[in-house]
Amino acid sequence: MSVDRRFGIIASALGLLFLVLASGLLIHQWSAYTRAEYALTHFQVFRATLLAMEKVSAERGPTNSVLGEDVPLPEARAAALRVARAESDARIAQLVGLLGLPGCDRCENERAAAQRVQATLADARANIDRVLRVPRAQRTDPALEQAVMRMVEVIPHFSPITNASTAGVLNGDASALNCMTAARLAATLREQAGLLGSRFTAALVSQRQLTEDEQFAIERTRGGIDQLGAYMRTRVQEDAALAHGAFARVNGKYFGEGLAYVARIRALASLPGGAAASTGEFAARYVPLMRPIVEFRDEALALAEEEVRLHRHAMLVRLVGAAGILSSLMCALALGVWLFRRQVIRPFAEAARVIRAIAAGGPSADLPPNAYRGEIQELFDAVQVLKAKDLERTRLEQERQRLIAELRTMAETDSLTRLLNRRAFESRAQAAFLDRDVLAPYLALVMIDIDHFKRINDTYGHAVGDRALECMADLCRETWRKGDVVARIGGEEFAVLVGVQDRAQVLEMVERLRLRLSRAVVPVEQGAGFTMTASFGVAYAARADAPSVKSLLKRADRLLYRAKLAGRDRVEVEASALADGGPPP
Ligand code: GH3
Ligand code: MG
Ligand code: MG
Repeated sequence: MSVDRRFGIIASALGLLFLVLASGLLIHQWSAYTRAEYALTHFQVFRATLLAMEKVSAERGPTNSVLGEDVPLPEARAAALRVARAESDARIAQLVGLLGLPGCDRCENERAAAQRVQATLADARANIDRVLRVPRAQRTDPALEQAVMRMVEVIPHFSPITNASTAGVLNGDASALNCMTAARLAATLREQAGLLGSRFTAALVSQRQLTEDEQFAIERTRGGIDQLGAYMRTRVQEDAALAHGAFARVNGKYFGEGLAYVARIRALASLPGGAAASTGEFAARYVPLMRPIVEFRDEALALAEEEVRLHRHAMLVRLVGAAGILSSLMCALALGVWLFRRQVIRPFAEAARVIRAIAAGGPSADLPPNAYRGEIQELFDAVQVLKAKDLERTRLEQERQRLIAELRTMAETDSLTRLLNRRAFESRAQAAFLDRDVLAPYLALVMIDIDHFKRINDTYGHAVGDRALECMADLCRETWRKGDVVARIGGEEFAVLVGVQDRAQVLEMVERLRLRLSRAVVPVEQGAGFTMTASFGVAYAARADAPSVKSLLKRADRLLYRAKLAGRDRVEVEASALADGGPPP
């Protein structure tokens, strides 16, 4: 596998890993953001619940007032009750509306709780209306107490909604817990404070002493209020922001003046004959002292909302930041991989290809134009030098081979006749003996010597002598084939090694040459030219006997000498070969 491909696979795997990690991180951030977004919806539900709860609590004020009036009710009291009921209904409708929002798709339990609130509130109101139709003197204590308590019992039905919405907010932003708890404590305190007032309603309506049961209920509610006060102080200590505002007024107005007023009324109502104050007077004095509780609740709600909104904003910033950073990183990674591939991997693969081509000695590969920088360009420059040196080396080697061939030819060739020289003749002839591809069964060595050559030189000059030698060489070349070994082995001496089927064949060749020579005219500048003769000695051997060239040469030379002695211009073949019609044994 190529380095480029391997790099591609590794880079893709790393990219994939990065994508998986980045997607994990983004999904995490996205879910944190959606939880923070839903936390805001849940927070609105939480606040709407506390506000609705407050209105339902507050409705008990005008309710208790009308319970102390005779029929027909004074118009002002009846109008105050209508307004209070309308406000409660509006708040509950707002809460129900919020529970239908998209952030609340799984709020079935809360919706069911809201329906229970509406149903129990409607029942409680219907019951009050029934009591109000009875003349005041005929209203019994149990009936009045039940009317009040049924309004009180509406409040616990809000709890599932506050619990679920608190959990929904904390799921998105846990740091809102303290302020939300403070707000809820304040709401509960407001409810309990109202309840404390309601405990006096029956006694004040009937202008009588508080019963033992009422005293006990008042004591219990007071205990609850003290406990709530302690809880609230703990919350306020934990969060400096809560300590600055309305809490001081809660302490002064409600826990101070409010509870002192309740204590006075209680002391009076504990005497026979009752407190001698109407429910209306009581409410007019007591209700304003509870206002700081609601203000503190709203302050805590505002702080919690700010926290939830800030948290949602922080989550959005983190989500967008993470997406931005991750996409920049992804781009940087992709760019890095692309650059690395372009600047390092590709040139490396290219350099490797060129170096391989140089090493293989094949047609030299092309180098890229000056496209790179730094070390990579230096690498290509070095490869360029290598390539140039390789080309030079190849050229020198070819030159050397040509010179060697030329030298070998020169060393083997006779410069005048361009036939082989004696040394080359001996080695080629020896090779021909050993060559199994030569099919002829016999090898004949013909030795030729031009007769009275000295006289030709003397008569016509050395140059004409040379021409005569060239003429002889041409005749030899025409007589014998390419595969035969023809050489000039001395001044005017020639030798031929030829493969033949039998002696007759070689004799026929030699005779043909002798006749052609006798007819060949060597031209001279002035005159008609001349002819010449030569003497021939033919030695003969079977290839299977593998005779040495030197011994054959010696034998042919002896036969040539014999031809000279016998008068020249003749052929001498080994006697035994001629006599029995075959090669010598
Ligand atoms: P024979 O018939 O007994 O062979 O007599 P010959 O004259 O041919 O023999 P000899 O050995 O006496 O003379 C050979 C001569 O060949 C001597 C030499 O000057 C001449 N010769 C040798 N080489 C060359 C050459 O390259 N060119 C020329 N022109 N003459 C040469
Ligand atoms: Mg000679
Ligand atoms: Mg001679």
